[in-house]
Amino acid sequence: MLSRFLSPRIQELAHQLREFVDQELVPLEQNAFHRPFQETEQALKALRPKVKAMGAWNLYLSKDHGGPGFSLLEVAQLSEILGRSPLGHLSCNCQAPDAGNIELLLSHASPALASQFLHPLLSGDIRSCFSMTEPDFAGSNPVNMGTTAIREGDEYVINGHKWFTSSADGASFAIVMAVTNPEAPKPHMRASMIIVPTDRPGFDLVRNIPVMGHAGSGYHSHAEIRYTNVRVPVTNRLGAEGAGFALAQERLGPGRIHHCMRWIGICERSFDLMCMRAATRDMGNGSYLGHKQTVQHWIAESRAEIDAARMLVLNAAETIDQAGSKAAAREISTIKFFAANVLQKVLDRAIQTHGALGITDDTMLSYWYREERGARIYDGPDEVHKSSLAKKILADYGMPRSTH
Ligand SMILES: Cc1cc2nc3c(=O)[nH]c(=O)nc-3n(C[C@H](O)[C@H](O)[C@H](O)COP(=O)(O)OP(=O)(O)OC[C@H]3O[C@@H](n4cnc5c(N)ncnc54)[C@H](O)[C@@H]3O)c2cc1C
Repeated sequence: MLSRFLSPRIQELAHQLREFVDQELVPLEQNAFHRPFQETEQALKALRPKVKAMGAWNLYLSKDHGGPGFSLLEVAQLSEILGRSPLGHLSCNCQAPDAGNIELLLSHASPALASQFLHPLLSGDIRSCFSMTEPDFAGSNPVNMGTTAIREGDEYVINGHKWFTSSADGASFAIVMAVTNPEAPKPHMRASMIIVPTDRPGFDLVRNIPVMGHAGSGYHSHAEIRYTNVRVPVTNRLGAEGAGFALAQERLGPGRIHHCMRWIGICERSFDLMCMRAATRDMGNGSYLGHKQTVQHWIAESRAEIDAARMLVLNAAETIDQAGSKAAAREISTIKFFAANVLQKVLDRAIQTHGALGITDDTMLSYWYREERGARIYDGPDEVHKSSLAKKILADYGMPRSTH
């Protein structure tokens, strides 16, 4: 954490959060990933009075919506601290996908939808999920999808097959992206976002998909879901018919800042573990692992890369604060692929430094290595962001738009 970037009004909270993560959350981690996740959720609920006393509950929300009203730049730095533990964001009700869903509902829910779905999310009484990606269509270009929501009277009848709906296990509702306007001239105007309670007949959570051997449970899982003739009132739609992708765009800018700073938090924790191991692993004859030049280089390279990634992300956050997400499109694409790759490299070096211990579940490194490989895929794969950035740069040099 580069404390000189902390604004005075978050310094105290940053300090308290760091202690909270180290003293309260880190000791819960081993249980969290080796026992049913519901037990950890109970433990986290017991910590809520402490979180609220610190002023960290819903810490990304504006004052109008009952939050502390921090800038994105400030939230980003707190997000790094929470990222040091996989339980950090969840403990403060700032976790994806609920944070993004809350922002959608704040902007687009009717009073009736707000009281049924938004208010219990804000108080942490329920969880939610976001159901867009489908196994049979390329998620990198999600305007192509097979899920439909056909109007019958005052209801939508939804049919489709989704997967990688994160945290659906235990969620009370899904925000489902479905085609409502197949006749619209442009593909990105064909889908709508519709709230589907998970107890509706026809909502079938087929399985938590194993990721590299681990299916996870509860919040820490990714579900395959079939929607078969699921009926919901038309009033469960968010925004206008066909506006689903326009709404999706709104949640991407700040959401990527949250993810990237969470990854920086993971990098810092992994870096600490790597350095502690290097400094204390006795290799015999008075030599320690950290005396090896290769390990020294891993540490130096990791330090430089983490600091560079943080600077890029904070720059993107500040640009969004000052000029909005659209104006920050280049910065957002840059951090999405750059920070995800730094994360992967730092985790890999930390594991290598630990030898066999690194691939066991006795440290958090293997959990993150497995779970966060997806960082280079979700919210836009590396290649999409790199091409998007390069095209914008080349346009400055006069390159015409591609015709195909
Ligand atoms: C951990 C995790 C959590 C997720 N959570 C959710 C969730 O909660 N809700 C949800 O709806 N979805 C979720 N997803 C799905 C995610 O949004 C998609 O996986 C992502 O959009 C990529 O789509 P795809 O998997 O279909 O890959 P594809 O679109 O098939 O792409 C495969 C690969 O092709 C390459 N590629 C794609 N486009 C281009 C291009 N233009 N140029 C060059 N190469 C390209 C990339 O290397 C890419 O990885 C999650 C995914 C992961 C891994």
